Amino acid sequence: MEIIQLPEDMQRRAGECRRARRSIGLVPTMGALHEGHLSLIRRCRAENDVVIMSLFVNPAQFNRTDDLERYPRDLEGDSRMAREAGVDVIFAPTAEGMYPDGYVTYVNVARITERWEGAARPGHFRGVATVCTKLFTICRPHRAYFGQKDYQQSLVVRRLAADLNLGLEIVVSPTVREPDGLALSSRNVLLSPEERRQATVLSRALFQAQAAVRGGERDAGRVRAAIEAEIRSAQLAAVDYVGVCDPDTLEPLVRVTGKAVAVVAASFGTTRLIDNAILDPQPE
Ligand code: AMP
Repeated sequence: MEIIQLPEDMQRRAGECRRARRSIGLVPTMGALHEGHLSLIRRCRAENDVVIMSLFVNPAQFNRTDDLERYPRDLEGDSRMAREAGVDVIFAPTAEGMYPDGYVTYVNVARITERWEGAARPGHFRGVATVCTKLFTICRPHRAYFGQKDYQQSLVVRRLAADLNLGLEIVVSPTVREPDGLALSSRNVLLSPEERRQATVLSRALFQAQAAVRGGERDAGRVRAAIEAEIRSAQLAAVDYVGVCDPDTLEPLVRVTGKAVAVVAASFGTTRLIDNAILDPQPE
């Protein structure tokens, strides 16, 4: 397994792979790897000749410096896990390498970035869209892998790849959860034992909403209110938003007549978590 730091070296390496007619899969990450990341890497390994994992805690997508500073980092552990999962190349640039002096170019995806994470974290999706565009042009993947865990992000990346004719396939993989339902996240290690215990309320509220819709509930406002009430029942949870929305536009729904997505964000102490679930009145 190779570790490449300079964008120009990575781009040269990707060019060699393309000339050799080898398909390239990219898994963008911010490191502190867990089973969620590994599920993307394994799928990428199965579907491509060359697996690149990028590892970059992108300052441009953090709207709070305290969040950026305390974001978990573990290059040694990540390298070992990545190698074992079949990564060929880790692209781990520095912030200066990605945004050198004089850097002024940003990618702005409109509309689907306005609500939810976009409203709660100003500038977040501009940072995400910019870094993904750069990673795509540097690593030149045929396919790039993202988790459903960050549902709005996956829509933003899909939109961006289509709108800018980037010529790659965006693959979105299901959320990996702990046995008690909590969605895996690099931020989970920041929770105290009691916060960790109460954080299961997010997935519980979402699973209850799925069951309600499956059981015939069609009033999106009632589904939304029930999710919020369930999350608020956890003493340490501070709700940021709860939405029941169209799965493509993320506009809030009045009725759940087809597939919908419920998105939630809440803080437990100083740690902010997000989760989501597809609500389907007619699951296969
Ligand atoms: P991050 O390192 O948090 O930026 O995540 C890198 C990629 O892994 C993103 O595409 C995330 O959506 C995905 N991811 C994070 N957590 C999970 C999870 N629990 N299940 C599946 N994918 C995940």
